Amino acid sequence: MENEETLIIRNVNKSYKLDNKETFQALHNISVSFKKGELVSIVGESGSGKSTLMNLIGGLDSDFTGQIIADGMDLGKLSDKELDKYRKDKVGFVFQSFNLISHLSILDNVTLALTLSNVGEKEKIARATKMLQLVGLESQLKKKPTQLSGGQKQRVAIARALINNPDIIIADEPTGALDTTTSMQILKILKEIADSGKLVIMVTHSEKVASISSRVVEISDGRITNDTPNKNYKKGESFNLNVEEEKKEENKKELKQNLSLWSAVRLSFHNMWASKVKNFLMAFGVAIGIGSLIVMLCFSSGIVDFINSTMTSYSDPTIVTLSKSATMEEIASFTEDDISQIVETINNEANLTDYTLSQEDISYGFQVATITPMFSASINYDFDNSGIAEYDENETLSLIYLYTTPPYYSDSTIVEGNLCSSDIPEDADYDAEIMLTPAIYNFFGEENPVGKIVELKITYNGSIISRFAKISGIVDTSVMSGFPVLYINYDAFEEIYNSQTEVASLSPLQPNTLYIQTPSKEIADAINAFVRATDDPIFEGISGSIEESLANMFTNLTNTIGSALIVISAISLLVSAIMILVVMYMSVTERTKEIGVLKSIGARKKDIRRIFSSESFLVGLLSGICGLVFAGILLIVVYILLTSLVGFAPLSFRWYYPFIALGVSIVISVLSGLYPASKAARLDPVESLRRE
Ligand code: ADP
Ligand code: MG
Repeated sequence: MENEETLIIRNVNKSYKLDNKETFQALHNISVSFKKGELVSIVGESGSGKSTLMNLIGGLDSDFTGQIIADGMDLGKLSDKELDKYRKDKVGFVFQSFNLISHLSILDNVTLALTLSNVGEKEKIARATKMLQLVGLESQLKKKPTQLSGGQKQRVAIARALINNPDIIIADEPTGALDTTTSMQILKILKEIADSGKLVIMVTHSEKVASISSRVVEISDGRITNDTPNKNYKKGESFNLNVEEEKKEENKKELKQNLSLWSAVRLSFHNMWASKVKNFLMAFGVAIGIGSLIVMLCFSSGIVDFINSTMTSYSDPTIVTLSKSATMEEIASFTEDDISQIVETINNEANLTDYTLSQEDISYGFQVATITPMFSASINYDFDNSGIAEYDENETLSLIYLYTTPPYYSDSTIVEGNLCSSDIPEDADYDAEIMLTPAIYNFFGEENPVGKIVELKITYNGSIISRFAKISGIVDTSVMSGFPVLYINYDAFEEIYNSQTEVASLSPLQPNTLYIQTPSKEIADAINAFVRATDDPIFEGISGSIEESLANMFTNLTNTIGSALIVISAISLLVSAIMILVVMYMSVTERTKEIGVLKSIGARKKDIRRIFSSESFLVGLLSGICGLVFAGILLIVVYILLTSLVGFAPLSFRWYYPFIALGVSIVISVLSGLYPASKAARLDPVESLRRE
């Protein structure tokens, strides 16, 4: 066993490809063999090819000609997977610059190779503690690398190299960054490792270090120029690395296992925590996109809910509403003739079985915007008792709509007071009852408007109709609640209108809205469908109820706002994706060395990809959570803004929106992280370790 040659190198040539397509031959025809138990010093000028040779032996670089046989395995013939396994189990690396992973504790650094093999937690800690004991660091487990001295760091690196009980330890200038005393301590450890039966190959510049080793191999310009055994080498104390027995047993089952998802998440969590400010800033950026996505969702469902509730609470499905829309210049209306033609057409052409529409089923309505030059309306209230002639600005409220009360309005439509009636007592000091929308509360301030008598002024084509009216109640149809709208009974309005003879003689009041009471929703639906489909000229320019047209107007408006929101959140999500990509990409660049270290201890491409992918998953999760918080704040702001600007805020929350947001955020992050993760996985370990 002692004399068996563990490492045989035969005719090895190594050339580097240079940028300009030329090659540089770093190793020329190297042939040399090493046995277990040897402590070999490789010496030579800087640039002579020592590191190149070490990388070949360590399986970090498989691009060479010739043969390297380690433990019976021909390295040149191994697959990538087998090479990963070789690095994980057969060789241990110790570097000049220690190459510890700064965001992991000493213990986690040492157990890393075991984590990659998915060894159980208990077993991992037991083995790592034992290795750290051997190098005299058992009391430093929880510390971070930055809290250790150079010599201590190198001892951690040695413990890490030993953890999988490899046969070969490769140390590339392990004492290069240490003072003489510390160097000697490290050397003593390496000697003990060699004396325990392992092959230790170290590159050194120090003659003193070389003089203690069992053999000195000199390399010059990529050739071995000297190979001298040290006759005086004495085996000394040796390490008791007797984890061997147990380990070999377990390896059989463990080696099949790889870095577990959970460990990958844990590793990336450590790393994210190490750069938490950066990650939180990034998450905040993504959160803006996610937040606006949620607000958009709440807004569009809010609109849908709002329209649905308006349509159901302010209409009667058995009533068909036909209205002629008024323009600024003209109020189109239904004449007696129109009405009988409508009845006739529906009866003859709508093909409604067992149903005949009669003129009696139709009631009249009148609705007009009262902000046109042709038609306007206002109410006046004598707050300071200065007399009617003295109304000032504060005592006048301009109305924007005049509606006659539809037949389907009931007490439930009235938030306060009563539905207005057309029966006015003989001795009353007012001529009509009216209802107004909640916008009236502002006008009356502290006072309750219900029961108040106001002067109602209607201007039509230059003539003024002025009457006293009692506010019988407040109507909230929510579509219009933010605007001052007047509701009055049709008969009452007709009476007022006709009593002003100059107006009435000019154009007597005719309805511009008809309400057809049908016996069932089915018949109402059929009539509606017929009216919409027919091209009979009598139905030209006729639309449904005012609530319906308002709802349509609202849908159009909110579709526009909705599209704007979709564009905004799409853009911000795209920006987020790019941002994640850039940050992850930078993270790969920053962690090049770490990736090299991971590869040197046997991490496969898959493991590296997994670590970076779980990092982007975590970024997505974190961003999603930040996004939810941000969405909450945004919703409150939007709610306040809308209520104060429009009077109501159509925002509806659905329980699954947070999940949509989290999902979107995670998907975006993971997708954006794919490229950086695969870049990390493809990094050349030799290059990455060379990076300063
Ligand atoms: P040593 O470790 O003995 O100082 P190296 O093995 O690092 O030397 O390098 C040996 C030679 O190979 C040097 O001349 C170096 O410039 C060259 N070399 C090393 N790596 C590369 C590379 N990736 N591309 C091109 N030349 C390289
Ligand atoms: Mg070197």
